[in-house]
Amino acid sequence: MSTHKTEFLLGVLGCPVAHSRSPAMHNAALQAKGIEGFYGRFEVAAESLTEAMRGIRALGIHGVNVTVPHKETVRLLLDEVDAIATRIGAVNTIFRDKDRLVGTNTDARGLVRALERAEVAIEGARVVVLGAGGAARAAAVGLTEAGAARVQIAARRPEQAQALLQDYQSLSAIDTTPVSLLDLNSCMAHCDLLVQATSAPLQGPKEAAAFADALPLDHLPQAAVVIDLVYEPLETQVLAAARRLGLKTVDGLGMLLYQGAIAFETWFGGEGAPVEIMRAALQRV
Ligand code: NDP
Repeated sequence: MSTHKTEFLLGVLGCPVAHSRSPAMHNAALQAKGIEGFYGRFEVAAESLTEAMRGIRALGIHGVNVTVPHKETVRLLLDEVDAIATRIGAVNTIFRDKDRLVGTNTDARGLVRALERAEVAIEGARVVVLGAGGAARAAAVGLTEAGAARVQIAARRPEQAQALLQDYQSLSAIDTTPVSLLDLNSCMAHCDLLVQATSAPLQGPKEAAAFADALPLDHLPQAAVVIDLVYEPLETQVLAAARRLGLKTVDGLGMLLYQGAIAFETWFGGEGAPVEIMRAALQRV
C-alpha cells in the first residue's frame, strides 16, 4: 500500500469556523511556497477544547490559528504564552517549539503592518479606538508599541473600557480616561487615526447605519484616516460615511491578511509569506 505523507498539518480552531477565510489564504500560501501541507478547519466547542489540544499535541499539528470562543481560554492549555499575547490577553496563533506549544498573537502586528502598507503614519499619531473587546485590545497594544502619541478608548460600556484601561495603564500612550461613545466631538477634533473596532457593522443594516450615523465623523480633521477592522462587508457604513467626507479610509482586509502572513512566517521560520497570493485568495472567498 502506498502512503502519502503530508508534511505539515495546520488549521483554524474555533466554533463556528465554517465561514473562516483562513484555509483559503493559507492553502494558497503553502502551494505558492511549494510546502507540502494542508490547512483545515477544526470546529471545536468550548467543552471539548482540552481534548482538542491533546489531539493537536499527539498528532503533531504544526500550527494553529485560534478564533472565537477559544482565544482567551486556550492560554491555560499551552506550555508558553509569549509577551505580546500575554499583553493582549488572547492567543490567535499557536506554534511548536520542539515539543512545546507556544501561543502568540499576530493581530496587533497585523494591524500595524496593514496601516504601514497603506502609508498611514502611526508614529506620533493621536488615535481613537471605538470598542473595548479583543480587537480593540490588539489595536491599543499594536499602535502604542508602534509609536502612537496617544490612544483613547471609546466604548459603550464604561466597565469594559475601564477593564482595558486598567490592564494597559503602564503603556505610555494610553489615555486612562475612557471616552463615551455619546460624547466624541472633542476627541474626534484632535484625532489623526480613528480605529473602528466594534462589531456594530455586523449587526444588520439598520443597526450598522444607526451606529455610523451617530459618529461625529465631520469633526475629524481633513487629514485624519479611518480604518474599520470589520472586513465583511468590506466597505462598512462607517467607511462609506468617512469616504463621503473626503477622508482617507482603510478596510479590514489588510489586517486579516497581515495577521495571517505573520502567522505563516512564524510557522515557517520567518520566511516571507506570499502576501499578494494570500490577498487574492482572501478576495476570492
Ligand atoms: P468582541 O466581541 O470582543 O468586542 C466587540 C466590541 O464591540 C465590544 O466592545 C462591544 O461592546 C462593541 N459593540 C458591539 N456592538 C456595538 C454597538 N452597536 N455600539 C457600540 N459598541 C458595540 O469582538 P472583537 O473585538 O474580537 O472583534 C470586533 C470586530 O473586529 C469583529 O466584528 C471582527 O470582525 C473584527 N476583527 C477584525 C480582524 C481583522 O483581522 N480585520 C481581527 C479581529 C476582529 P459590548 O460588549 O457592549 O457589546
